[in-house]
Amino acid sequence: MSQTTVDRAVDERLALITDAGLVAHGRGSAAYDALVTGFNLDQSVSPVVVVRPRDAADVAALVRLANEHGFGVGVRLTGHGLSPALDDQVMVHTGDLAELHVDAEGRWARIGAGVVWQRVLDEAAAHGLGAIAGSAPSVGVVGYTTGGGLSPVGRTYGLAVDHVRSFDVVTGDGVLRRASATEDPELFWALKGGRGTAGIVTALELDLLPLAELYGGAVFFDGADAATVLRTWNAWSAELPPEATTSIAFLRLPPLPDLPPPLAGRFTVSVRFAWAGPLDEGAAVLAPMRAAATPVLDGVGRLPFAAFGAIHTDPADPMPVVEDHTLLAGLPDEAVDALLARVGPEADCPQLLVELRQLGGAYRTGPDAAFAHRDAAFTVHTVGLAVPPVREAALAHNGALLAALAPWSTGGRLPNFASRTDAGWYRAVYGEAGVARLRAVVLAHDPRNVLAGGRALRAATD
Ligand SMILES: Cc1cc2nc3c(=O)[nH]c(=O)nc-3n(C[C@H](O)[C@H](O)[C@H](O)COP(=O)(O)OP(=O)(O)OC[C@H]3O[C@@H](n4cnc5c(N)ncnc54)[C@H](O)[C@@H]3O)c2cc1C
Repeated sequence: MSQTTVDRAVDERLALITDAGLVAHGRGSAAYDALVTGFNLDQSVSPVVVVRPRDAADVAALVRLANEHGFGVGVRLTGHGLSPALDDQVMVHTGDLAELHVDAEGRWARIGAGVVWQRVLDEAAAHGLGAIAGSAPSVGVVGYTTGGGLSPVGRTYGLAVDHVRSFDVVTGDGVLRRASATEDPELFWALKGGRGTAGIVTALELDLLPLAELYGGAVFFDGADAATVLRTWNAWSAELPPEATTSIAFLRLPPLPDLPPPLAGRFTVSVRFAWAGPLDEGAAVLAPMRAAATPVLDGVGRLPFAAFGAIHTDPADPMPVVEDHTLLAGLPDEAVDALLARVGPEADCPQLLVELRQLGGAYRTGPDAAFAHRDAAFTVHTVGLAVPPVREAALAHNGALLAALAPWSTGGRLPNFASRTDAGWYRAVYGEAGVARLRAVVLAHDPRNVLAGGRALRAATD
């Protein structure tokens, strides 16, 4: 097809959508450029048109139009976790679905698909409540939750999906539905981990947590002490009660002026800790870990829930990154040695971050959901800067690290980390039975194969 023919097709698609009364932006406009740029600058997307629905009815109208005219529709908010490819599709940007209502008495919230966690944390905190947020408050509530949602208080409260009362969702047939344990329960199951495969969520209702404050934050150690700190963390975390959630991160941060001097331009190890038990007991629980070596920075203390992001101190600004991920069944001494050989002080490790999160506790139980792998013991997640030549080095290191940890890997993956759309990825995330069940929900609700998430699943697992 010539460029002129392509341009004409794009213009026609844009005209079709705007004629239907929807707010849409085509390639070449400043609004389009702003809406397609997301958190991970390594993942550029090129949809034909970006639509900004004002409400759920707009989403339903767009999906009905897609059914009539045979085009694909994908969805995105922040770009923290793109999947599947949105190229040459119509992309729904949910930024204007910004409703947020907290029912303090009933301890729940109604949250639009355009809301990021920090808004919920602030609003809930105003009522003395907390929420099952992820590590980065700039992540979208719906994107995170439809991927299961692993929280820095997850060992105490479980997955984010365990707290969802209902989803409002537009399915591929263009129908706006409500999915809950009693209304369309199979669709509800699929949305609890299936990300955007089964529908475009326009809002969800979520239980809040009876917690205004935690004892939490991060203690940073010098990278030279990495071996002692990791071995201590491994032994200490094995004995923690479920009121405690912890992770450890090997950080090699660039010498940026806005980073605290003890962390900028050097190798450090961060132990993250969140204690949801009685506040005055938190320090004693953390004490053995604090004593592992001399901290270079100690940021653990009483933490208002609205400052939840201080536990992981994730970056908030967009940057180009490459990631990888696996799940471990356990972390015996041999696995610790294998890890240290690739991320310890002697290693040539190009990653900005290699992180292990301890699972267990409340993760192990919860209502039936598309999210699998409740039994895994640890997650491993790598993040490298995607700027040549570091990008290639980070990709190679990812491969070598995951191969070295393979003897202890469960072979599973979580929906929210390093997402892809190939058959192997879907099987690793949902298992054979989970993929079959998810496909059945998609086929039942999207007969014309319109939604990008469902399309990708179908194409990979046909
Ligand atoms: C710095 C950082 C920290 C993170 N920390 C955590 C963490 O602690 N725990 C955790 O579980 N995850 C974490 N993640 C992963 C994150 O939760 C996922 O990438 C999540 O999908 C991001 O959602 P989003 O809407 O912000 O991103 P987007 O890139 O906009 O969306 C990602 C995907 O979510 C789905 N999605 C988004 N909106 C909708 C919708 N309205 N309806 C249906 N599907 C939708 C789609 O599949 C979409 O491709 C982190 C990611 C980053 C970059």
